[in-house]
Amino acid sequence: MNPSHPPLSEPEHPSDFIRDFVASDLASGVVAQVVTRFPPEPNGYLHIGHAKSICLNFGIAREFDGVCHLRMDDTNPTKEDIEYVDAIVEDVRWLIDGWADHCLRFKPGGAAPIDGAGDFHMTSVGPGPDAEPFFASDYFEALHEFALRLIRKGKAYVCDLSPGETEASRGAPDRPGTPSPWRDRPVEENLDLFARMRAGEFPDGTRTLRAKIDMASPNVWLRDPLLYRIRHTEHHQAGKAWCIYPLYDFAHGLSDYIEGVTHSICTLEFEVHRPLYDWLLQTLDLPRPLPRQFEFARLNLGYTVMSKRKLRQLVTENRVRGWDDPRLPTIRGLRRRGVTAAALRAFAYHIGITKFNGLTDVAVLEHAMREDLNRTARRRLAVLDPLKVVLTNLPGDYCEEFDAVNNPEDPDAGTRKLPFSREIFIERADFMETPPPKFFRLRPGGEVRLKYACIIRCEEVVKNDAGEVVELRCTADLDSRRGGPNSGRKIKGTIHWVSAAHAVEAEVRLFDRLFTVPEPESEEDWLAHLNPDSLRVVTAKCEPSLADPDPGTRYQFERLAYFASDADGAPGRPVFNRTITLKDAWSKQTGKS
Ligand code: ATP
Ligand code: MG
Repeated sequence: MNPSHPPLSEPEHPSDFIRDFVASDLASGVVAQVVTRFPPEPNGYLHIGHAKSICLNFGIAREFDGVCHLRMDDTNPTKEDIEYVDAIVEDVRWLIDGWADHCLRFKPGGAAPIDGAGDFHMTSVGPGPDAEPFFASDYFEALHEFALRLIRKGKAYVCDLSPGETEASRGAPDRPGTPSPWRDRPVEENLDLFARMRAGEFPDGTRTLRAKIDMASPNVWLRDPLLYRIRHTEHHQAGKAWCIYPLYDFAHGLSDYIEGVTHSICTLEFEVHRPLYDWLLQTLDLPRPLPRQFEFARLNLGYTVMSKRKLRQLVTENRVRGWDDPRLPTIRGLRRRGVTAAALRAFAYHIGITKFNGLTDVAVLEHAMREDLNRTARRRLAVLDPLKVVLTNLPGDYCEEFDAVNNPEDPDAGTRKLPFSREIFIERADFMETPPPKFFRLRPGGEVRLKYACIIRCEEVVKNDAGEVVELRCTADLDSRRGGPNSGRKIKGTIHWVSAAHAVEAEVRLFDRLFTVPEPESEEDWLAHLNPDSLRVVTAKCEPSLADPDPGTRYQFERLAYFASDADGAPGRPVFNRTITLKDAWSKQTGKS
């Protein structure tokens, strides 16, 4: 193992500035039980950046005996879809399965709280068959009630400016905004207009509800931010009930409050929204302890893109084969590629939680992948670029079975039988006619050990008319088998092989980085940097135990890479995705380590 990479694992007690706050809130009694939440907007599939946030929110719940809510932040019906809701729930459950699933709190049964004046305390129900995540849309009535309260307090008003005018009147950080001419509307008129907005009297974009805060604030988010806008659109959860929808900042903090969230953790872009988050909660004079917002740096990973818009474009333009394409950084893409949930969690823990935005080297993720797979993946023999070898001193019907260990890291994984016969395949790259010094594999007149079997000597090289090597004729030293009189004979090279008569053909998909540049997201013409060789498909010869694997089974093909079987395979014709090579081939190519 590379000594510069220490082993990755999930520390039981990681420490960072957010966990320090949680610990001190619990110690001082400000908080009795930690409640966190992971709040995706169901407008796309989750990616590895979300995995970082999931591991943080569920990790805190797990370490501090708390709970975490999975909440669909579904306040923008025009971009959302139920398809995404289901995929998000599945991906989250996969990632936390057996680790923090006991901290996942489900939506309580019964009607969502609708009375803004009441006590919204959540009582938890177990994960029954109808277990559902939380939905911000469940709080539309409650949020509406909160909006009415703000209007009655003189803290919100209906504004008739168009979206363009509103934007222009906002000003800039160094220039105060211009107050809306509707800012001082009487409460009664605001209540009437807001009721008529809700009743559907006005078209989209004609009126908004705005908080009345401070048009001269240096923080533009406090310059009378929008709370509601008109959208005559059906909602995937709420149906046709609404034609006004709350904006993120209004809905988010109040959803946190309704659910009894104690620590609301988001990425750094929202730091400037925090004063608004606090203003809304404080201005409403709420009876229970208020949630607090904390921010951390989002994950940016090299050689890939993570914005949902760009991921969607890759999918819709067929530049990849779908949201679960193993080249994508989506959770389902990584999963299909063969990455384990434990590896993603170890990665998330290893990179840690900070306040500084940076670019994480994919090598860190790859290291976490290798480390977990080395522990768990079964070893198998497969030849990706086959060269036929005839063992001329064995009879035509020769057949023998060798015992091969399934995983040297895991004695419980047992052994399997590996058939051996007169004709075998070896990797083309394991033979060289005129090899350089220190080439310890097969050469004319040279010897090599076949893993688990015996030593062979290359006697003759057969070529076609074009001069290409098409076959090797070798002799096998059966005395060098385990337990044989020559078993201790020292040979420098050991190679993998597959018996030709028993070989199963497999489609093998070899993935490489999707982009050729470390930061495609920051390139103007980002699509121009797609790696044209990000997918190569070969037909491999595999040992017979690989004939019909369950989809998702992970293997190490010895001396080559880790692979996971794909659901596209059929009995006798498996398909394998290369998860990750055994060593980092890319760093050699680019000269980096
Ligand atoms: P979009 O690409 O549409 O802006 P998003 O990536 O912000 O969406 P959300 O669904 O809003 O996705 O994110 C859900 C949660 O995941 C948020 O709390 C957000 O802060 C967090 N999150 C999103 N991307 C990352 C990332 N790259 N690293 C860490 N956390 C992230
Ligand atoms: Mg977002």
